[in-house]
Amino acid sequence: MKSLDTLVIHAFPRLKADQKKALERLGITTLHDLLYHFPTRYSDMSEVKTIQEVHADETVTVYGRIHNLKTKKSFKGGIPMATAMLTDIHGDTLSLTWFRQAFLAKTLHEGSLVQLTGKITISTRGARSLVNPEVQNIPHLPIDTHTSLFGEKRNEATSFGFPVYPETKGITSKWIYHALKTILTQELLASLVDPIPVDILQKYNLPTLATALVWVHMPKRKKDADTARKRFAFEEIFMIQIHKQRDRAYFRDLASFMLDVDTDKMHAFVNTFPFPLTGAQERAINEIVRDMASPYPMSRLLEGDVGSGKTAVAVVASYATITNAPRDNRFGRLQVAYMAPTEILAQQHFESFIEYFAHTGISIGLITGSGCRKFPSKVDPFGWTSVSRAQLLKWTHSGEISILIGTHALIQKSVSFHELGLVIIDEQHRFGTKQRMQLSRKQHAPHLLSMTATPIPRTLALTLYGDLDLTILDEMPAGRKHVITEITPPHKRTQAYDAVRAALRQGRQVYIICPRIDEPDPLKEKALQLKSVQAEARRLRRDVFPEYRIDILHSKMTKQKKDEVMEKFYAHDIDILVATSVVEVGVNVPNATVIVIEGAERFGLAQLHQLRGRVLRGTYQAYCYLFADVKTKKTLERLDALVASEDGFALAEKDFALRGAGDLAGRKQWGITDMGMEALKNIKMVSAAREEALRIITEDRDLENYPILAEKIKSQKFDIHLE
Ligand code: ADP
Ligand code: MG
Repeated sequence: MKSLDTLVIHAFPRLKADQKKALERLGITTLHDLLYHFPTRYSDMSEVKTIQEVHADETVTVYGRIHNLKTKKSFKGGIPMATAMLTDIHGDTLSLTWFRQAFLAKTLHEGSLVQLTGKITISTRGARSLVNPEVQNIPHLPIDTHTSLFGEKRNEATSFGFPVYPETKGITSKWIYHALKTILTQELLASLVDPIPVDILQKYNLPTLATALVWVHMPKRKKDADTARKRFAFEEIFMIQIHKQRDRAYFRDLASFMLDVDTDKMHAFVNTFPFPLTGAQERAINEIVRDMASPYPMSRLLEGDVGSGKTAVAVVASYATITNAPRDNRFGRLQVAYMAPTEILAQQHFESFIEYFAHTGISIGLITGSGCRKFPSKVDPFGWTSVSRAQLLKWTHSGEISILIGTHALIQKSVSFHELGLVIIDEQHRFGTKQRMQLSRKQHAPHLLSMTATPIPRTLALTLYGDLDLTILDEMPAGRKHVITEITPPHKRTQAYDAVRAALRQGRQVYIICPRIDEPDPLKEKALQLKSVQAEARRLRRDVFPEYRIDILHSKMTKQKKDEVMEKFYAHDIDILVATSVVEVGVNVPNATVIVIEGAERFGLAQLHQLRGRVLRGTYQAYCYLFADVKTKKTLERLDALVASEDGFALAEKDFALRGAGDLAGRKQWGITDMGMEALKNIKMVSAAREEALRIITEDRDLENYPILAEKIKSQKFDIHLE
């Protein structure tokens, strides 16, 4: 009897080397993985056609009789192949070719009645053919395409086409289908234990695991396939929620600092700002202060579009923290750690924190891979000075430094705080519970404020950040600048370049973003990107802007190299930065006022909006040129939405509804499957999964009464946005 932990290579000992590699690439190691490798679609009955009815490039199912069956070696390379003809009930014919499908010889015979599914090609002379179609032997031909094999009406058909699996070189859909047929035995199905508690299945009318596996892999009706997919989507979101809610519950157990915030003093501090807070900022601050006064540690996510003023909120939260004393010392201050994603951003935050706090007399430190700084300097009470790392660490340990700002260097073992009250994380999707505890290394857990400008739909935020409370800054500061956004069709390119040149002449800087490349293999994708960035930079240097300094930035560069280039761009040693969308997170170069986006139609709206946010910071009018080849009305509609709206979260929501999750920035690192993503469009399902998970965790956080669930949670990698 095989168990789910059985390795696929043991269950199918005759696998060839390239098949093994292909399975590995698909992430399929055990039978469990194989069972959870779901079809992306089904070649369904609605595509059943007579040969007369087929068109080029459509995927169809046809019925007929096989004749002229021949096996031979192909012309080139001697690949084994089989050819045949198919004649359907009306006497029309179709030619068939299969490459490398030796097993066909055993299943196909001269005169066999078959159901074939594949993509039609039509030669210039009008000959129709199918290459490598799926085959299934059938007892008799259906009378016409509106009846199924057994004479029933189509929608009650007993056969519902073939599942089509995500393939990779070396493993075909067909192999997966046959493998699943072999392992999905009654015996195995009977031995399965469902990780979803039965009362939940009943409440939401979901099929059991055994039923759903059969329905998803070999459905007889579309309805069954849909129901099964719904169940697995629910299961995925539910598992993530169980995991997140448990993290959250454990965290709430830890003791924290019940901050005593003097609101009068806090308001006086806010009054030193050069602007009044927006209503949204005030609401956020109130929520944060309330959280930090409670006995368990805060875990809050602050979501706000670029420029919505998250830094000011972080500054007030820091102020509330440092005006509290550590437990062992009534005169000292609790400390704050602020982690930024890049060195340059850490430096920028160091500088803006100095501006906000200069009059308070506190000390602020900066720690990055390339050096350390301290404010104030001994000689200049209004400036900072470079200090040795050892010295800065000493001051951090003694509590002399109240706010330490840095990159990942902040969470190295050598960094030890006297008493850390608050951790602020900026655009770090990969900061988990472990890192958080590592930072404090004390019994008391610091409060956590995580901040992001990455616009994602609400259901996704509730899932990915299920362990955090959510605050949204949904109001922009008054007088916010606008980026003039223009859709530039190919024939207006020269005009747009002229406008870019005008900005360059006035001393401004420019981003040119290369088109997004879709390629399933991440290594290949990076290589292709590098190529396109290099080629575009070369073209611009040679043909368009020979008089300006052009450099490149792409994701294949090391972090250090990226930082170096950004540093140069920041210092205006580069005029034009040709980049992939890596430039999107948080970079702030006020003198860069123009962004050109090539192949704009290929990006998601939220991502385009984020890219556009790069030029929002300066005092000069900013421009965004969307170079787009607009072929369809839908594309134009999407890009028009971007011209019209400046609300990143609304744009993300709109794109998610229009095009699905594929376009959301950061999609790959979340570890949610396509099916799970599809489910996230269904707010009811997401809320149900969250509610049920919360209920189970509240009643039984160690999952003592849910051993299978506990097991499954333990065995899955939930490092969704953790390191
Ligand atoms: P982000 O949310 O992108 O981190 P920042 O905190 O950097 O935004 O703020 C963007 C700019 O807006 C900064 O220059 C900041 O000084 C300014 N700002 C923040 N809050 C307000 C406000 N309430 N009114 C006016 N300007 C503000
Ligand atoms: Mg910011």
